[in-house]
Amino acid sequence: MAGPVDPNLVKKVLIANRGEIAVRIARACRELGIRSVAIYSEADRYSLHVKKSDEAHCVGSDPLQGYLNPHTIVNLAVETGCDALHPGYGFLSENAELAKVCAERGIKFIGPSAEVIHMMGDKTEARTSAIRAGVPVTPGTEGNLSGIDEAVEFAGKIGYPVMLKATSGGGGRGIRRCNDEKELRQNYDRVISEATKAFGRADVFMEKCIVNPRHIEVQVLADSLGNTIHLFERDCSIQRRNQKLIELAPSPQLTPDQRKYIGELAVKVAKEVNYENAGTVEFLLDHDGSFYFMEMNTRVQVEHTITEQITGVDIVKEQIRVASGLPLRYKQEDVTYQGFCAQFRINAEDPKNGFLPSFGRISRYYSAGGPGVRTDAAMYSGYTIPPYYDSMCAKLIVWALTWEELLERSERALGDMQIYGIRTTIPYYQEILQHPEFRAADFNTGFVEKHPELVHYSVKRRPESLVAAIAAAVAAQAGI
Ligand code: ADP
Ligand code: ADP
Ligand code: MG
Repeated sequence: MAGPVDPNLVKKVLIANRGEIAVRIARACRELGIRSVAIYSEADRYSLHVKKSDEAHCVGSDPLQGYLNPHTIVNLAVETGCDALHPGYGFLSENAELAKVCAERGIKFIGPSAEVIHMMGDKTEARTSAIRAGVPVTPGTEGNLSGIDEAVEFAGKIGYPVMLKATSGGGGRGIRRCNDEKELRQNYDRVISEATKAFGRADVFMEKCIVNPRHIEVQVLADSLGNTIHLFERDCSIQRRNQKLIELAPSPQLTPDQRKYIGELAVKVAKEVNYENAGTVEFLLDHDGSFYFMEMNTRVQVEHTITEQITGVDIVKEQIRVASGLPLRYKQEDVTYQGFCAQFRINAEDPKNGFLPSFGRISRYYSAGGPGVRTDAAMYSGYTIPPYYDSMCAKLIVWALTWEELLERSERALGDMQIYGIRTTIPYYQEILQHPEFRAADFNTGFVEKHPELVHYSVKRRPESLVAAIAAAVAAQAGI
């Protein structure tokens, strides 16, 4: 390899992650002429990220522990001569300790500072920062709840339904909707125990539940020289159990004025906390057009890809540049977008069977291709998906110039992608794509729950327009 494209860039990056995001980071390093070091557990010996990096080191026989210990990972970075570390998403990506240990050991952490991770990882502190920045937040408690009595009293004030949320929650876990006092009392201890188990902290707070909102989030980028920009928004309203399934950029549900407004709000939040590197500011959009700050994710997101496709900005490369101390290559006015992009999270789950995980050996895999199609995956024919990790095994990313073309191209691409040996969410997405509400870009976070029939995909429907067009063509040929 010729060496870094830019001599000011870091030279060697340890990728503290696995799966498709580790492959994504290794690809960015390759294009920048930077060496990459993968880590893997025994269970991941045959994973694609191991093959796509320049070096790979086994971090133990336990499937998870090796990916979760900041000290051993940073030790390895030092021992292998790395000068930077990329945390990806999930695992330690929002662990302030990792950023701190990196700083202490002279390894550049590709993300914000430990202080900012710590602050924004606490949802109540993040809300306080947003309020300071003059950004509207969902009505809710100022800090954590002291107990069930305070919870009941506060819910009485803001009115039901309310959301109980784990202060340090993530990945859609530790969130419960309570429609009345009885449900609040039932859920209170449950959320605390979920939060303790999943995040190691028992703190919970309360927000007013915005009924069937749209989830709109803004990608931000900031360098160490004080330049902060946004790369427009993503619409992640298609969710199941607060977890995103399909993401769209830009949102087909926003007006240009709303787009401008929310982009500016996100930059305000980022500037308020002196944010550096890539981050995402998440908002809820209510039916009356109000936007409320929800949280900030201080890392690269699963759905960063769709923003890359509409803006042409390589977010992971920009992260590495910024962490190297270089300025952003874009000013706000340089950033434009074109067309629409969708990302389908292809999960190894059986939609017909309650989305039960469906791990196992992939006997054959054909990735989707053709115009406007990108697949970010960590699988290949013959690969066995280990049962220890997240069920997302690929991301199908589809771009088109118009919304209508995006619908047709997505249908085509989902049909192109063939995964044998396991069940996936592909047929479920094919059904969603046919739904008139989705096609009319009129949906909110209640869509999946509202349409339970879509998991039964035995009947393959086609858009009426296409059926009519085919009928007309056949009739014309037959001379009818
Ligand atoms: P995004 O907003 O990037 O779509 P998600 O919330 O879907 O991110 O989370 C990305 C991945 O990280 C998922 O695999 C999720 O399970 C995991 N994850 C996110 N937050 C946490 C957390 N606090 N603890 C453990 N895993 C998490
Ligand atoms: P996580 O850290 O797990 O991503 P978030 O706070 O971002 O948690 O919330 C995840 C999802 O839960 C949102 O996208 C939204 O669908 C739902 N949600 C969260 N807070 C509220 C609320 N106050 N009202 C309605 N829905 C909410
Ligand atoms: Mg979130």
